[in-house]
Amino acid sequence: MNIIKYPNDILETPCEPVTEFNDELRDIITKMKDVMQKAGGIGLSANQVGISKSFFIIKDSKGSIVEFINPKIIDVEGMVNFREGCLSAPNVYLNVFRPEAVLIEYQDVTGEKRKTYAEGLEARTILHEYDHLQGVFYFSKVNRATRKAALSQLKRR
Ligand SMILES: [Zn+2]
Repeated sequence: MNIIKYPNDILETPCEPVTEFNDELRDIITKMKDVMQKAGGIGLSANQVGISKSFFIIKDSKGSIVEFINPKIIDVEGMVNFREGCLSAPNVYLNVFRPEAVLIEYQDVTGEKRKTYAEGLEARTILHEYDHLQGVFYFSKVNRATRKAALSQLKRR
């Protein structure tokens, strides 16, 4: 399992819902946790590892890695501009406006429905990963000049 780097079509294509909560899904999530830890990240979506399905993992405010399957944002609060990075664009940090807090509904690996309220860095990570599942890369959330500079920074590597 490898992390796909931007630009790549899979990162700009909306993911399909998860319908089967089986061993295969459990295995993929276990592998993703390992890949994310090794890369030193705090969030990773399925399409970033080549699987166009609607789920992601994040490291929460307590340091546990949690999976969010078929997530749906119910509500957001506030707006804040903060530096953000992505494992698909190593070492490119951009200031991105996002809500300060989020209420999100999702399923866990067993298919059970759950709800989480998050704020601060955890909310930002959830919103960033949620965007991945919609095929939205964080480069699209900044102005054209910033995006251009970020792209040329990626190409230089
Ligand atoms: Zn990302």
